[in-house]
Amino acid sequence: MAPGAFKCIECNEDANELHRDYSNGILKITICASCKKPVDKYIEYDPVIILIDATLCKIQAFRHILFNTDINIHWKLCVFCLLCESYLRWFLLQGSQPSGDPADIIRYTKEWDFYCMFALAALELAVFCTGVLLILWTVRRFNGVSIEFHSLLKALLLSSYGKVLLIPAVIWEHDFSPLCFSLIRLFVLTSNTQAIKVILNCSRRLSLLAVCGGLLLETFVSQAFKTLQVCSQDYLPVF
Ligand SMILES: [Zn+2]
Repeated sequence: MAPGAFKCIECNEDANELHRDYSNGILKITICASCKKPVDKYIEYDPVIILIDATLCKIQAFRHILFNTDINIHWKLCVFCLLCESYLRWFLLQGSQPSGDPADIIRYTKEWDFYCMFALAALELAVFCTGVLLILWTVRRFNGVSIEFHSLLKALLLSSYGKVLLIPAVIWEHDFSPLCFSLIRLFVLTSNTQAIKVILNCSRRLSLLAVCGGLLLETFVSQAFKTLQVCSQDYLPVF
């Protein structure tokens, strides 16, 4: 492993290793030279504990996931979340359309609606990520610091994992769906803010500014599509 390939989850200092492997199967967790704490205590934790800490937006858990693991499922997770989101939009769209129209039972029409919802969800996600990256790039460039787009995009996509909570919302179909969707959205945005803060080691104000900017841009595009009624007259945005 290259020198400085890892990060201390407590103080964000570079580290060469997370643990040292002695003979006879004896492992010893590396102690950070800067803060004198274990570089990454999560390497001996159960994944469920790590997930709970990540859900609580603990900065140490985010550093562990983003810097000290080889998790590379961000694109798969992204597609899965888009499918969940598209299904929800499509589900609400079907519920909002008047029944009894013979055209409603044409299967390919409904299938086409789903593809439209997927395209819209993908476009809005792309606009959100572009807005966030653009704001961060502008601010960092103004300060003479470059950013690594790939790692930032990976952090944004991974931290959007909260969208999988849409699945139980769909399954149970309870009456509090709009409130539920808003809470999930708030959770995802909070995770996005924390991920940006961790990956850039920047202030919370900057990460919040970037997320709010991306959200505004996404809302603008969403409203523009709603006005134009590209796919349906009763298009109901969920995210
Ligand atoms: Zn440290």
